[in-house]
Amino acid sequence: MSIRINVDGQMGTEEDRLLSPLDQGFLFGASVYETIRTYDGVPFVLERHLERLRASAEALGIDIDVSMETLTERLRATLEEAGNAESSIRIVISAGIGAIDYRAGSARKPTVVIIVRPLPAFPESLYQSGAKAAFVTVMRASRGNLSPKIKSSNLLNNIMALRQAHEKGAYEALLLNGRGEVCEGSMSNVFVVRGGAVATPPLSSGLLEGITREHVIEIARGNGIELEEKTCTPEDLLGADEVFITASAREVVPIVRVDETTIGDGKPGPVTQKIIKCYQVHVRALMSTTETVD
Ligand code: PMP
Repeated sequence: MSIRINVDGQMGTEEDRLLSPLDQGFLFGASVYETIRTYDGVPFVLERHLERLRASAEALGIDIDVSMETLTERLRATLEEAGNAESSIRIVISAGIGAIDYRAGSARKPTVVIIVRPLPAFPESLYQSGAKAAFVTVMRASRGNLSPKIKSSNLLNNIMALRQAHEKGAYEALLLNGRGEVCEGSMSNVFVVRGGAVATPPLSSGLLEGITREHVIEIARGNGIELEEKTCTPEDLLGADEVFITASAREVVPIVRVDETTIGDGKPGPVTQKIIKCYQVHVRALMSTTETVD
């Protein structure tokens, strides 16, 4: 079980100083990222993650100068060097080394970082008993502040939100947008279930277009579960029969308590449990068509 870090094709470990302090990713948070997990050692829906990475970089004005084939090959080599049974992968592309000046063109060449770590063990109890979430006062940056299409490594909002949630003894923070609607978690998308039907806030609420969210929407509709993308108020969420969150590494996590309110009967509900099961089947079905990372 080990961590391997590949910077612009150069392999290293967490002991190595592979990045320049003049990298604008470090100086200004000018970088974008993806988190991908493996199943049986193979990255899940890698192409979709690379597509979102490319879109994020483009929106930030970073011109990725390595091909997706080169990136995939570096990832394969890094996974092999790490030798983990299952890995969590973070690909970061920063604006690169340049002047301490954030005007366009002040960085020379994007830096491409691939971090491969052992996949953290998410306890079984998280899925069987569910977790607590908390509303926080930190708001999701509005589209006017930062396009939700940019999956930026500048995560100060998310850090402050999660800190507040942890202070309330919660596992995840629930962020509202500027209109007071439920937007997303600090590291996840949010779903509510009422009367057997599932709802999740639409992209117009200003959230990250989560890849797990996309899969859950497809899974629900393919399994006869009604699913609607619609705006959700904090009251809708607190009055729901079930709540769950989604993210690539954690998959589908039931939320059984929000602040001081118990959701439903305080246990993961039947729709959430069905979606958790269907997600596993869906992953296996997709992985059986993806043999290798190249
Ligand atoms: N929203 C935010 C703010 C996130 O950080 C994440 C996790 N990267 C998600 C949603 C979930 O996205 P995905 O399903 O693509 O991991």
